[in-house]
Amino acid sequence: TRAITLRSRPVGWPTEDNFELVEVELPPLREGQILVRNLFMSVDPYMRGRMNEGESYVPPFEVGEPLQGGAVGEVVESRAPEFEIGDTVLHNYGWREHAVMDASEAQKITPLPGVPLSAYLGVLGMPGLTAYVGLLDIAAFKEGDAVFVSGAAGAVGSVAGQIARLKGASRVVGSAGSETKVRYVIDKLGFDDAFCYKANGPVVQQLRRAVPDGIDVYFDNVGGEHLEAAIEVSRRYGRTAMCGAISTYNDPEPPPGPRNLFQVIAKRLTLRGFIVNDHADRMPDMIKEIGQWLQERRITFEETVVEGLENAPAAFLGMLRGENLGKMIVRLV
Ligand code: NDP
Repeated sequence: TRAITLRSRPVGWPTEDNFELVEVELPPLREGQILVRNLFMSVDPYMRGRMNEGESYVPPFEVGEPLQGGAVGEVVESRAPEFEIGDTVLHNYGWREHAVMDASEAQKITPLPGVPLSAYLGVLGMPGLTAYVGLLDIAAFKEGDAVFVSGAAGAVGSVAGQIARLKGASRVVGSAGSETKVRYVIDKLGFDDAFCYKANGPVVQQLRRAVPDGIDVYFDNVGGEHLEAAIEVSRRYGRTAMCGAISTYNDPEPPPGPRNLFQVIAKRLTLRGFIVNDHADRMPDMIKEIGQWLQERRITFEETVVEGLENAPAAFLGMLRGENLGKMIVRLV
């Protein structure tokens, strides 16, 4: 089967040269294993961290080995009693067309009517759970809160903002990297306001204009200047879910922190980091609630689909540059 390996570790911004498309031999199926043909695979920001040497919260990818990541596929051969040929499964052997795995490494999914299978890599998958847990559990969102979401047109941010709206936020505002995305966030996702952080002046100025009375909750996907601005406009007892810091992932050196950290003390703020993997127990709640909203058409999502395994590195690089509206997906068949 074909797979994408890590040819070399990127320093700074990755390039196509850091990846290689190779032919790999599949091992024969052992008892308790399944062979899966991948239909969709995910490219996610956290993968950039795994391309560096040294463990952060997940072990690094190995040079010369296929990359890994979320994928949805169909079982084409089974030596495990729990799976039949034709079952749809979610698993972590993306970046390849076929994969052999233990039954315990695959999770059967029962698709919801009208919802594409790729949604299990986005709104109904890891990014959806990240938005759900980050907003409700980590930032302890409550009705009436004013909420700011950065990366608002992306996989996690688009869901976080819609949950806040559906659960009675007094105001939801977002930031994104283009005017098209800003229009999408307001017109399609139903945010009260949004701004483009690349134009029209510093983030703090635009944020203050969008929320003159300040914010209670910040859902941080971006870090850097965005985090400093959110601290600046937070109200007393404000809570921040520190979800990601994508503005810094390609920095060879860690960037300086927010200059206004003292305000965390003065305003009695809570800034709390989290990793979605620790919150798998909330998956059933998330699927139930977001699944229901999807059926009722009260929540919406977008995907940017790139075709073919050979284009997966380009999809990953494009996602880092902001070429995706909603979730970046690679379709493999
Ligand atoms: P997205 O779908 O949001 O895609 C990434 C987006 O980041 C791009 O589309 C781009 O949008 C934006 N971006 C890139 N560079 C910058 C920059 N310098 N400043 C601001 N925005 C930038 O990805 P996800 O929704 O999958 O992930 C969003 C965040 O959530 C990431 O930080 C990720 O690491 C984090 N995350 C954390 C998890 C956890 O467990 N804590 C789990 C999953 C994700 P634009 O055009 O708007 O710039």
